[in-house]
Amino acid sequence: MQRVYNFSAGPSMLPESVLEKAASEMMNYGGSGMSVMEMSHRTPVYQSIIDAAESDLRKLMNIPDNYKVLFLQGGATQQFAAVPLNLMNKNRKADYIVSGQFSKKAAEEAAKFGEVNIIASSKDRNFAYIPRVDKFSPDADYVHICYNNTIFGTCFDYIPETGDIPLVADMSSGILSRPVDVSKFGLIYAGAQKNMGPSGLTVVIVREDLLGNAREGTPVMLDYKVQADNGSMYNTPPCYSIYVAGLVFKWLLETGGLEEREKINVKKANILYDYLETSKLFSATADKNVRSLMNVCFVTGDADKDKDFCSAASKAGFVNLKGHRSVGGMRASIYNAMPVEGVEKLVEFMRNYEKENA
Ligand SMILES: *Cc1c(COP(=O)(O)O)cnc(C)c1O
Repeated sequence: MQRVYNFSAGPSMLPESVLEKAASEMMNYGGSGMSVMEMSHRTPVYQSIIDAAESDLRKLMNIPDNYKVLFLQGGATQQFAAVPLNLMNKNRKADYIVSGQFSKKAAEEAAKFGEVNIIASSKDRNFAYIPRVDKFSPDADYVHICYNNTIFGTCFDYIPETGDIPLVADMSSGILSRPVDVSKFGLIYAGAQKNMGPSGLTVVIVREDLLGNAREGTPVMLDYKVQADNGSMYNTPPCYSIYVAGLVFKWLLETGGLEEREKINVKKANILYDYLETSKLFSATADKNVRSLMNVCFVTGDADKDKDFCSAASKAGFVNLKGHRSVGGMRASIYNAMPVEGVEKLVEFMRNYEKENA
């Protein structure tokens, strides 16, 4: 069967070699006589799977020893509540930078639990830029950012210097796309289905000193300390998603880690952005200095033409290019698993479409 080039924002493409490996182990994982899907999480064989996933992620991201890695459920959206429940605990105040739809939702959820200050927003230009912020509320319990804005195709080009105030980042669509200095963050969270693996898994990387102060009434599943003390197995973890994410981590390590990955991602993004710069039909919507390596948003300026392009692209095997309804136009999500060739072929298709529609 012919596979398509899938530009979905999430769930999204997985590396072919990872899918093949998972398929080859489907009926009988490592001589256990069963699939990982059928395995008790309280067995040595499963423990070795989750341990390897954690240690490979630590290696990949160079996660310092004083950080816990949690494999949770509920998506990034669940973290919109878990973060304030655990961290909004001294002054019940937090600063939020709103750079898109997900950070707006995160701020709204946090406002149920305390005072939320929107210290900056890029809403005035439909989130085409990233606000530059260097002043924070001195009594904020944390500062929250969305590192890569999946819907608007922008990415922070700087890490806010928050001093002693913990910096929290939703990294759902940017994690593992390039190296980041984890020590600059108090907490990083990410849904797996963009750049790590299947949906159903949410990764939280949290500095140890931030654990253990969840407010009274915090549901046990949302208490990071409980999850950390139980090795992410207070209850049944998302076993299979962790296994596949583990295969993705191994694939990244085997292909040169995140330094190498960044080079490939820059190359891929440039192929697309360079063409958009010269195209008379298509144009990129995000400001140049903050364009995402992962989500490339572009428009023709004519909604009917956008629609026609998406349908023509789809017929040619380039699927899921329709932009989010709040931006319109197109979005090509080119996460780690999208090969360079997929982007080259998409641009070739766009060039031809432009010629035919001039
Ligand atoms: C997809 C996404 C979310 C929502 O993730 P769920 O896992 O569906 O809850 C939140 N934030 C960002 C940046 C995303 O890309």
